[in-house]
Amino acid sequence: MDIRWARRIDELPPYLFAEIDAKKEELIKKGVDVIDLGVGDPDLPTPEHIINALERAANDPANHRYPSYVGMLSFREAAARWMRRRFGVDLDPGSEVLALIGSKEGVAHIPLAFIDPGDVVLVPDPGYPVYPVSTTFAGGVPWLMPLYKENGFLPDLSAIPADIRKKAKLMFLNYPNNPTTAVTGNDFFDDVVEFAAANDIIVCHDAAYTEIAYDGLRPPSFLEVDGAMEVGMELHSHSKTYNMTGWRIAFAVGNKRAIGGLGKVKTNIDSGAFQAVQAAAIEALDNYTLGLAERVGIYQERRDIFCRGLDEAGIKYHHTEATFYVWIEAPSGYSSQQFANTLLTQSAIVVTPGEGFGKYGEGYVRVTLTIATDRLTEAVERIKDVTL
Ligand SMILES: *Cc1c(COP(=O)(O)O)cnc(C)c1O
Repeated sequence: MDIRWARRIDELPPYLFAEIDAKKEELIKKGVDVIDLGVGDPDLPTPEHIINALERAANDPANHRYPSYVGMLSFREAAARWMRRRFGVDLDPGSEVLALIGSKEGVAHIPLAFIDPGDVVLVPDPGYPVYPVSTTFAGGVPWLMPLYKENGFLPDLSAIPADIRKKAKLMFLNYPNNPTTAVTGNDFFDDVVEFAAANDIIVCHDAAYTEIAYDGLRPPSFLEVDGAMEVGMELHSHSKTYNMTGWRIAFAVGNKRAIGGLGKVKTNIDSGAFQAVQAAAIEALDNYTLGLAERVGIYQERRDIFCRGLDEAGIKYHHTEATFYVWIEAPSGYSSQQFANTLLTQSAIVVTPGEGFGKYGEGYVRVTLTIATDRLTEAVERIKDVTL
């Protein structure tokens, strides 16, 4: 029998890095010491007090049954408490908070709640690849908002044509931004609210990195600005803040109708997050400063070591104020993939070509700071020896 995949599978964007992957495998097979700066996944463990909370909750049979679809009330209350403490945003845990099985799950399901076939979704490019993919899975059409260096890697809302504004129903944003590391303040979010309200566009702000910021910076929540609760929602995740990527827990907050729509979809797809994981997530939220400065301090030290090395090698990059990435410009004469290839061939370092995050990522590569500091130092020494 000929098992045929649906068109939505055939239409997935092509995988661009086969050549680089093959070369990496070949080097490893030869015994070369490859340093992988490609994967954005914290290398340090989840804090112990959170693991202990999971252990206690996992031993309680009450947590072994189907969880509530929207998340335990105690989890939603903890999320609301954290939003008030951290951002001064007041939320009703009953209707304005929804538990997610990771924010990726939220991003993947949001278009199913709001997008009919042919509707346009405004997605940042370069950006998290799930935004355009979840759009097309729902039958929507992604419209790429280029993030240019000249604009501080913010989308130019005034450049969105009138016919696109009319057809657009949803906009994804993400600050602090992966992959560009850009941060933004309330002025831009004010403009977004005005734009969204004027054009009836729901805003979904992916806020996975608000807690990973350096030199005392405190990135804002989109929901802090006036009118944001009228137009949108925001996704927060435990993954990056507490080194919990494997646990799969996050939450959506914001406009009641928006949260309700996503909840409707999820009720029909999944059955919620394991309650013991939610209990551990409550422990994390209620003690969110515990060890956070130390964890961020480790990334900040790595950023300083790595960026000093880039400076010495004469390689340009966007100064990282938040996230655990460095967004590096390919030297003139190199495409993203050529630069990534050169780093791999000459120094056995794996980086992600910017194109992997969309066509406007061409000309850049992304490096992650989520490897042991001594390995990163070794990477810096190798990069200094590369001839460009
Ligand atoms: C890591 C990441 C996520 C995924 O977070 P999970 O909560 O682990 O699903 C979402 N958005 C962006 C931009 C990320 O970098």
